[in-house]
Amino acid sequence: MALAAKELPALDFGCGGLIARAVRMINHAGCMDMNGHVSMRDHEDPNMMWINSRKASRSSLTARDVVPVDLRTGKRIGIGDEPPSEFHIHREIYLRRTDVAAVEHSHPEHIVTLSIAGKPLQPVFAVGAFLPENVPIFPHAYLIDTVERGKAVALALGEGTAVTLRGHGFVIAGPSVEHMVNWIVSAEDNAKAQFNALQIGEPHVFRGEELEIMRAQIADPKIVRKNWDYHYETARRAGALDGVDG
Ligand SMILES: [Zn+2]
Repeated sequence: MALAAKELPALDFGCGGLIARAVRMINHAGCMDMNGHVSMRDHEDPNMMWINSRKASRSSLTARDVVPVDLRTGKRIGIGDEPPSEFHIHREIYLRRTDVAAVEHSHPEHIVTLSIAGKPLQPVFAVGAFLPENVPIFPHAYLIDTVERGKAVALALGEGTAVTLRGHGFVIAGPSVEHMVNWIVSAEDNAKAQFNALQIGEPHVFRGEELEIMRAQIADPKIVRKNWDYHYETARRAGALDGVDG
């Protein structure tokens, strides 16, 4: 799919500030956990990514807890906290996909539940129309903590936007950190709706032209920014962004 996000005016927080906010916002929305991560490709250097560190709490990390990694070597640049053990997911996707600017990985309950039951996540709720008709399922639950496992997940993602790791979690890849916040919350909302519908009948899955029309509607940059603003203000007013710049 086209990942164009050029029309979206950039948020002026720097890479660390942007990722720290995104992690806290996703956590506040109930779609992160103690081990999730968000990354972005550096704006100036396409061979560098930024990711929240392994140790920093997802509820209180600051811009200074976001660390740079050299995509060519897989090494952290400079000294300090290390990236999370599953940073291979991010690195291998960036190496394969020059169109991807941001990646998110976490373990949302309903997405994982569907995968355990062998049900692919499918677009059934309007907000989930960015998803493909069947989100691929990577058939292993182990940590993606080696280059080989990272490559296997990147391969399972292919040219798409999402892949579910069965009994483990979810990976999304897209054009910006704003999209990651929007998409992970929307994907989990979609999974909840799909799960609920499965209790009482056969869910209607958006396909073909119907899916394309809805996908174009939610891809409007104004909608993406509105979503970000909603989650940002909800988290900020609850105090979840206090001290985010360190
Ligand atoms: Zn994981």
